[in-house]
Formats: sequence, C-alpha cells, structure tokens
Amino acid sequence: MKQPSDTTDLVARIYRAIREPYECLGHQLVTDASIGISLAPRDATDLDQLLKNADLAMYGAKADGRRTYRFFEPAMDARVKALRALELELRKAIADGGLEIYYQPLVNLEDNEITGCEALLRWYHPQRGMISPAEFIPVAEDTGLINQLGEWVLTTACAEAATWPNDIKLAVNVSPLQFRSQLLGLKVAAALSTSGLAASRLELEITEAVLIRDDEAALAMLHQLRGLGVRIALDDFGTGYSSLSYVQRFPFDKIKIDRCFIKDIAEPGGSAFIVQAVVNIAAARNMTTVAEGVETEQQRDMLRGFGCTEMQGYLFSPALPAAETMQLLLSRRERALAVA
Ligand code: C2E
Ligand code: CA
Ligand code: CA
Repeated sequence: MKQPSDTTDLVARIYRAIREPYECLGHQLVTDASIGISLAPRDATDLDQLLKNADLAMYGAKADGRRTYRFFEPAMDARVKALRALELELRKAIADGGLEIYYQPLVNLEDNEITGCEALLRWYHPQRGMISPAEFIPVAEDTGLINQLGEWVLTTACAEAATWPNDIKLAVNVSPLQFRSQLLGLKVAAALSTSGLAASRLELEITEAVLIRDDEAALAMLHQLRGLGVRIALDDFGTGYSSLSYVQRFPFDKIKIDRCFIKDIAEPGGSAFIVQAVVNIAAARNMTTVAEGVETEQQRDMLRGFGCTEMQGYLFSPALPAAETMQLLLSRRERALAVA
C-alpha cells in the first residue's frame, strides 16, 4: 500500500465483505466491526508497537460510536498514558489517606427539613488540586480499584452517619462494577454492623447501568440488599436508554431526577412536563422523588408544585466536609427545638 487512500479502499472492501447478511440456523445474521489502523513506518516499525497502536485506534473507533474505523494518532497513546498515571496516583491516594468524603444534604420540599445526606468522594491531588469524582471514578472502574474505593466509602460514611441525629439518612453511590461482585451484600452488612448504623438509614444509589447487563443477577442482588433493610434509589433518572422499564421491573424506594431536567425546568419549552410525568409515575408506584441540582428558588417552587418529595442542590447547600455537615445538622436541630 502506497498511500492512505489505499488503506481506506481496503477497509471499505472488508466492511462490504463482513456486512453481507448470512443465514445461521434459520436466522438472518449481520456482523460488523470497529477497525483500528496503524501504518508502518509512520506509526511504528516493530510489529508489537504496530499492533498496540492499532488496538488503541480500534478503541478510538469504538468510542466514536462503533462500526467505524480510525487511524492511529499519537494523542491516543498520550491519553492512555495519562490514564495510567492517574491510576497510579489514585492507588497511592487510597493507601495514603488522600481521599475525603463530603456530604450533601437532601431536603424535604414540604417542610424544608434535612432528611439525609449523600456521600460524595473528594480527592485533593498534591499538584493538580481537586480532581472531580466524575474524572477519577471511571478510572477506578476501568482498573478494578472501584471495589476497594467503594468499600472504603461505605465503611467510612456509615461510621460518620452513625454519629448524626438518628432520623438523618445516609445515601451512598454504588458503581455497577461493585454490583457485579457477589460480595456486595456482605460488605454492606459488615459496614452496618461495624458502625452500628440502622439498615433503614442507609440508601444505596444505583444507576440503570446496573441493570443493563446481567439483569437477573443484578435483580437478585437488589432483592438481597433490600432484604437487609436498606433502601434503593435509582440515580440520574432519565439519562439512560430505558429507564421506565427498570421502574417496572424493580420496586425502587426513590427516583433521583437528573440535574439536566431541573436545569431548564423553568424555561419555556423546557423539561417541566418531563419532571411532572416522572413525579406522577413514581407516586403511582409508591416511590418518592428527589430533584438533583436545584439552584434557584423558582426551580424549587415549581418542584414543590409538582409534588416532588425532596430536593438537593446548591440552592440549599453544596457537599460539605464531615465536620461542617455535623454542624449544619446540629444547628438545624437546635433551631427546631427552640421553635418547639
Ligand atoms: P451524582 O451521584 O449525580 O452526584 C451529584 C453531583 O452533582 C455531585 O458532583 C454534586 O456535587 C453535584 N451537584 C450537587 N448539587 C448541584 C447543583 O446544584 N448544581 C450542580 N451543577 N451540581 C450539583 P460530584 O460530587 O462531583 O460527583 C460527581 C459524580 O461522581 C456523582 O454524581 C457520582 O456519580 C460519582 N461519585 C461521587 N462519589 C462517588 C462514590 O463514592 N462512589 C461512586 N461509585 N461514585 C461516586
Ligand atoms: Ca448520586
Ligand atoms: Ca445523580
């Protein structure tokens, strides 16, 4: 092959060949592929490196929506190296205690009282400053570190919540990967018994990604956790593909309506009708609702009008360190006693 267009001609021929439907046991089947291409000597000269680069390019093709092809670019290699560096630093942070949990209050929309707090991980990197969990949780998931990390969050947050007034609940995010481990139920039970936190005060937040793969095993785990007495919330509702069918299949205790619907709730042509519909569906199935990311009084008032149960967001409070959370909980308690 002399020039890149020769390669794309070859790719087109490969696609034509493998996309040809064929018969198998009476069914018409179609196959497809994501193709990664690295060129010698431009990208590398030894076979190992060429294959590695082609592999990276294939992941690039998959990330671009699959069923397409990509040529290797040096930036692909740089990205993998950056992820690897982040992984090593995260391992170190777990070992050295470089992680902290912040807590964001959830507030009842009827009486404005705090009902619980969500545990949100924070990582202060010595050079880069605060790294968002949105950036490092996927790395922890890719590398399997999430199991260790998730167990630490569960144990630490349960111990912290056991010191709060005992009508305040704790919500903990659980990654789909933790769900695949048969040991999750045991770990939850251990965190509860070590901390002395009542199971009814713990709420696990899962996303529908838990249910996409291996449905039966995930449903069995959900029932096992429910059997322990913990509550289950469906997080980021509305951002996935088939949220409604999951509400049908498992009786969640709570639905958390994703921030993207709250953001434009008050705008003309915004998501108000979606939020109202979700609140109605949840109520019909005896589930409560939380609106995420509430930032304005107008949003709060609309949600209250729709009959949404709780809200969470910067309007009331961002996530706070453990000591400040405790102060907030106690000061509100004192105020309530003074009024009574
Ligand atoms: P999430 O579970 O949807 O958590 C809510 C996120 O929205 C948090 O970001 C929170 O700080 C942010 N937020 C809260 N109120 C507002 C608001 O009014 N406006 C805006 N713009 N944002 C608001 P955070 O803490 O950066 O967490 C990001 C995501 O990382 C979480 O999304 C969750 O998916 C994941 N995560 C955090 N901690 C853990 C953990 O311990 N385990 C697992 N598996 N995932 C975690
Ligand atoms: Ca959450
Ligand atoms: Ca969420």
